Amino acid sequence: MPAELRDTFGRLHNNLRISVTDRCNLRCTYCMPEEVSFMERQELLTFEEIARFVRIAATLGINKIRLTGGEPLLRKDLAKLVRLLVGIDGIQDVGLTTNGMLLGDQAQALWDAGLRRINISLDTLDAERFRQLTRRDGLERTIDGIMAARRAGFDPVKINAVAIRGITDHEVVPLARFAREHGLQMRFIEYMPIGADEWERDKVYYAHEILEQIEGEIGPLVPASDYDPRAPAMEFEYIDGGGRVGIIASISRPFCNHCNRLRLTADGKLRNCLFALDEIDVKGFLRTSQQDDALVEAIMRSVATKWEGHEINTARFIKPLRTMHTIGG
Ligand code: SAM
Ligand code: SF4
Repeated sequence: MPAELRDTFGRLHNNLRISVTDRCNLRCTYCMPEEVSFMERQELLTFEEIARFVRIAATLGINKIRLTGGEPLLRKDLAKLVRLLVGIDGIQDVGLTTNGMLLGDQAQALWDAGLRRINISLDTLDAERFRQLTRRDGLERTIDGIMAARRAGFDPVKINAVAIRGITDHEVVPLARFAREHGLQMRFIEYMPIGADEWERDKVYYAHEILEQIEGEIGPLVPASDYDPRAPAMEFEYIDGGGRVGIIASISRPFCNHCNRLRLTADGKLRNCLFALDEIDVKGFLRTSQQDDALVEAIMRSVATKWEGHEINTARFIKPLRTMHTIGG
C-alpha cells in the first residue's frame, strides 16, 4: 500500500505550506508588529533543503505545495525554488500567496518556472486605508502586480482580503466589484487571532455578513457548482455569471474536521496546525544527516500528534507565540 499521512482523527494530509522567509515589505497590523527582528539568513532553509524535505514528504503522500511567508517574493530567485518543486515526483500542484508588491517584475518568471496558482492579498482599494493597514505605501504596486499576474497567464488570480469589522468591512463591496470587473476571484478571510495585535471576537466580520453585503449591493450568489463542503473556502457564484467569491470562515465555520495541511516554517520547524503550540525541528536533521529516516519519522510524528482542531471558540484557546508572518499563512 502506498504510504499516507493519516492522523488519529482519520484526516489524510496531502498539503504542505512552506514559508520561505519571515521578512516582509509591508507591516499589516493584523499579521505582524511594527518593530520586528527578522531571522538571520543562515537560519533559513536553503532551496536545496526545502526541496529535499519536499522529496521525502512526497513519498508519504504530500502532493500539493503552497509557498508563503512573510513575503515570499523577497526571497531571491524564488522562481528557482518553484522550478525545483514542480520537478519533484508526486508534486502535482505548486501555489503562491503573496502581497503582490514585487509581482510586476516576477510574475512572468514564476509562470515560466511552472507556477500556476496564485493568491494575492489586498484588503482595500483606498490608498490611505492601505497605508493604515499595512503601515506602508503600496496600493498601486499591488494592483500592478495583480495585472502582471493576469498578463503572465495566471487564471484564476485569487485576491485575499481579511474581513475586520469597523476596519475593512466597508471594503467588501468595492473589492468584490473590482474583482468582477477584472475577472479575478475574490476571497474574504475571517480575521483570526494570530497576529501581533489584540484580537477581539467583536472585530471578526463574519461570513454571513460578507455574503449579505455582496448580495444586497451587487447581486445574488449561489453555491458554486463544484462546491466542496470539506474545502477551507466556501465557494459561491454570481447567478448573472459575474464570477466567483470565496469565503474562508475559519472562525464561524472552522474546517478543522477536514484539515489536510502541514506547515514548514522558514527556519525549518514543522507545524501540524496554524495554531499549534508545538513544532518539530527538521532543520537539524536536514543539516546533520544524509539519512532520510529521521525526517520521515518527524513528519509522521507531526501528523500523529495533530489535535482535533483549533479552540478559538472555546475558553481553552491559547494564542501561539509565533505571529502569522513567522509561520506562513
Ligand atoms: N505576505 C503574503 C501575503 O500577504 O499574501 C503571504 C503571507 S500572509 C501571512 C498570508 C495570508 O495570511 C494573507 O492573505 C494575509 O491576509 C493572511 N493573514 C495574515 N494575518 C491574518 C489574520 N490575523 N487573520 C486572517 N488572515 C490573516
Ligand atoms: Fe506581510 Fe503578508 Fe503579513 Fe501583510 S499579511 S505583513 S504582506 S506577511
